Amino acid sequence: MKHAFRTLIQSSILPLVTLCASQLAQAQEFTKAELEMVEKVREHAHNSNLSWQLVESLTTEVGPRLPGTENDKMAVAWAKQKFQQLGFDKVWLEPSKFPEWRRYHESGFILTPSKQPLHLTALGNSISTPKKGLTGEVVLFETFDELKAAPAGSLEGKIAFINYRMNRDIDGNGYGPAVKARNKGAVEAAKKGAIAYMMRSVSTSHHRFAHTGGSHYTKGITKIPATAVANPDADQLARLVALGNPVRVELNIQTEDLGEGTSYNVIGEITGTKYPEQYVLLGSHLDSWDLGTGALDDGAGVALTMAAAKHIADHTQPERSIRVVLFAAEELGLWGAKAYFKHYEKRLGNIVAAAESDFGADVVYAFESNVNAASLPVVRAIAEQLKPLGVKYIRKNEARGGPDLIPLRQTTSAPIFDLHQVGTDYFDYHHTADDTLDKVDPEKLKQNTAAYAVFALMAANAETKMAGK
Ligand SMILES: [Zn+2]
Repeated sequence: MKHAFRTLIQSSILPLVTLCASQLAQAQEFTKAELEMVEKVREHAHNSNLSWQLVESLTTEVGPRLPGTENDKMAVAWAKQKFQQLGFDKVWLEPSKFPEWRRYHESGFILTPSKQPLHLTALGNSISTPKKGLTGEVVLFETFDELKAAPAGSLEGKIAFINYRMNRDIDGNGYGPAVKARNKGAVEAAKKGAIAYMMRSVSTSHHRFAHTGGSHYTKGITKIPATAVANPDADQLARLVALGNPVRVELNIQTEDLGEGTSYNVIGEITGTKYPEQYVLLGSHLDSWDLGTGALDDGAGVALTMAAAKHIADHTQPERSIRVVLFAAEELGLWGAKAYFKHYEKRLGNIVAAAESDFGADVVYAFESNVNAASLPVVRAIAEQLKPLGVKYIRKNEARGGPDLIPLRQTTSAPIFDLHQVGTDYFDYHHTADDTLDKVDPEKLKQNTAAYAVFALMAANAETKMAGK
């Protein structure tokens, strides 16, 4: 069928010269019937509430999903059951180890010149302060590099505070530079003798919510408590420091390191008819931080990748499989993703396209690939079918994928895709108590789901098996 249509196109000179490059790409990779099916699936997904129903159910019936907690176990059971109810052909769990951590208490005060509450949160993996808390003088640094450059011993008995301001942009490019202070700030502070570490939240928000997130100690360096303060509190501290008098604060953080825990990647697959071993990987992560209900991060991603595959299966059985992987323990260090790509290390060539949705619930505004030259006609054909959703095509061919695809990128040159989402407001809510369902716009979620459905169906049915470069 596909070949017959191609021959027809190529044997007639007139249609050939009037076809533009993208139409030609589509004609070479997809039959007319296949493109009609893409349109049908796109319209269906764009009008369906399914992804909204899923994110509502997950965030309401399970809520926060810190790895290893009872809620995390409930989320795994929830996902398995939903995949089964939605009629996925195969549903299974794969275990993942991770360092289990709990937050029990967090409070803080400015002590001088007057007592004032600090809105703060422990960074993930932070150790506790003494039961009664600790007090110390704040030493302010504008950047992580400035802290790194501080002389050895200069922070003896003090509390290091980095006041780095993240910038706001559609693609969240301010996150990378800001997150250095979260990952390793406590290590650098401890090297200089500090007794605790504070940072301005990795955030663009003006609200008084503190933003948590992963932090990591280094073997051989003293572990000190690590916290983030809400941005208005960071401003307050900076103003007090600027007055020139010593500013003392009190911190009380109670957490627990529970050693190695186990959670599960939950996987649902729509099995391909022609090449069942080859698959499109749609990723997201099932876990979340404990402060909010993980609606934007990453309930929306879970919901829309599950729904996208289901919308395809409602209309057609794809030629290659579509595998939805809900990764475990992403927030604590990509643990589920590391386990997954290790497990499939010898079979990564079966992945014909991989994309992760982990950037909130706003619309997809651009599509970008990272593939070899032979795969580009497929990419152009997909981009053409995303246009009606208002998605533009970025031709750079340098997609990096979501965080859970980092272990894949590090192992092999895989065909990776970005369905870039509008992230202008994402870091107002990210990793806070304010990451709740009301931040998800059902209409935007529909557009997003439809974009994933178009992408997955076309990658599964393309004549060319896509590959990385
Ligand atoms: Zn996330």
